[in-house]
Amino acid sequence: MMRAGALCLALVPAPAMADFTESNLLAIFYHELGHAVIHQMDVPIFGQEEDAADALSILLIDALYEAEDAEVIAYDSANLFWAEAQNEPAFWDTHGPDEQRYFNTVCLFYGADPDGREEFAQDLELPEERAEGCEDEFALAADSWHSVLDGMSANSGLTGQLVLNGSVAMELISHEIKALNAEFKWPRNITVTLESCDEANAFYDLDAQSITMCTELVDWLDGIATQIAAD
Ligand SMILES: [Zn+2]
Repeated sequence: MMRAGALCLALVPAPAMADFTESNLLAIFYHELGHAVIHQMDVPIFGQEEDAADALSILLIDALYEAEDAEVIAYDSANLFWAEAQNEPAFWDTHGPDEQRYFNTVCLFYGADPDGREEFAQDLELPEERAEGCEDEFALAADSWHSVLDGMSANSGLTGQLVLNGSVAMELISHEIKALNAEFKWPRNITVTLESCDEANAFYDLDAQSITMCTELVDWLDGIATQIAAD
């Protein structure tokens, strides 16, 4: 089985990680990065692109962070999907239903290290029937993504990078951009814009080749964190 460590990524120093909002800003940013990689690297996708982007997000969390921090981020990311799953599922949506995104997240993260993450899987109530196949699910996702990410290594000959755009300080993301630029190169520059967009959202724009992280995400995530804490 190919382990995430085979990516040879430097560990990003963890910010203050016991923070639901920061964890999820990271997970969301990595998800958008997934769309950007799929587009720029012409990755063929057979199935839901959203699922592939979620898988990359978990893969990067597992690969880039120390085990303890990675687990906190994975917990928070799964908990966001769980909180969202309390709303009516939108089956027409390009994203899978939140309850499924929850179990996919738990399964992949558990599958990266089944021995070390048994408690994680139990705690988040991953059913045995699903848990059995998670190591293979992770290996498939890791193999698929590594073959793409290997072509984006610092010595790949590519010269594009993530370029921060926006006056709004979202320190966590600008820190990420620096760390990711040290590891990955892109066919073309990708602008990362932090701005207010009247909704709590994040998206990759195919035409502009830019990732937008809406600053409204911060309040929205803070609100969900408060809600979870109250439950
Ligand atoms: Zn998406």
